Amino acid sequence: MLKQLEVLQNWLKEENKEAIFINDPDNVAYFSGYQSEPHERILALLVFKDVSPFLFVPALEKEDALNSTWEYDVLGYLDHENPWSLISHAVKQRIGDLTILAIEKDFLTVTRMEQLQTEFPGVSFSDVTPKIQSMKLVKTKDEIQKMIEAGIWADKALEIGFKAIKEGVQEQEIVAEIEYELKKMGIKNMSFETMVLTGDNAASPHGVPGSRCIQKNDLVLFDLGVVYDGYTSDVTRTVAFGEPSEKAKEIYHIVLRANEAAIAAVKPGVTAGELDKIARDIITEAGYGEYFNHRLGHGLGRSVHEFPSIMEGNDFVVQEGMCFSIEPGIYVSGVAGVRIEDCLYVTADGCEVFTHTPKTYTTIS
Ligand code: MN
Ligand code: MN
Repeated sequence: MLKQLEVLQNWLKEENKEAIFINDPDNVAYFSGYQSEPHERILALLVFKDVSPFLFVPALEKEDALNSTWEYDVLGYLDHENPWSLISHAVKQRIGDLTILAIEKDFLTVTRMEQLQTEFPGVSFSDVTPKIQSMKLVKTKDEIQKMIEAGIWADKALEIGFKAIKEGVQEQEIVAEIEYELKKMGIKNMSFETMVLTGDNAASPHGVPGSRCIQKNDLVLFDLGVVYDGYTSDVTRTVAFGEPSEKAKEIYHIVLRANEAAIAAVKPGVTAGELDKIARDIITEAGYGEYFNHRLGHGLGRSVHEFPSIMEGNDFVVQEGMCFSIEPGIYVSGVAGVRIEDCLYVTADGCEVFTHTPKTYTTIS
């Protein structure tokens, strides 16, 4: 049995709950080793206090699940079948009547919740999310190794992207170039939709790459990540094409100082809020506080955004083995958009970053 699953079963015993219904595909993979994207179909893992767990999958995936490292029952359902009555039947077979079912409150949809309520009348529901979050927070050596690999691939992706910068090339073309080259090298998925934003488009933190063409003296912002063996990376670099304005250059150096100061402060015992403050103070003192309009960072692992938020006021204490991003940015419409992001893991007395693409102000010509 996977260690993680054992921890979850022990939690059921301690909390005196009978069963857990997990349906976030990342969590199913974390606890079962079976990775899948079921789209609108149901993929679930049922975990019990005293009896063996089972995986519930679309019938078309049953063979794959059986061939995975999962060693317990796999139940499949056909599209015309009612998955909920099959699940409740399988649960009743194993443990009889339920009184408490733990669910992922941050993931289960209202529709699915109503189906569970119909199938398990009178059952009360409790939340397993905080437990899963705290488990996923501290990564094992094996998980960190996969994230190091994902970081190496992210650096590779940036290298491809930088080479694709040419006057007149569209943002989307650079995105396509990066993903095409990576796929040829065996990468299946990016962590999220690759972002290449130029000029004023980069002044929107969550901008969408489009047909804007790279012009001389633009800043070009890359935000991307690669999935390696189920684990994500996430990196942002902003580079200059030609000679952007002095103001743009000044903004770049402020963001860089904020990024480096926050990373230098990461170690066990510091709080998420303190890290955010270190970066934010630098940006605020330079006069750009209002243009840094998002949190400093976020946890990551199997998912690119995980608990916790590295944000103002969060007194969450950083622990060894945690992985998260540090990504200050300044976005001034009509002037410049700059973000510099690295993800890292916390060591006994500091941290190591996953991405090593240089952060010194880089001009591509
Ligand atoms: Mn990020
Ligand atoms: Mn990012």
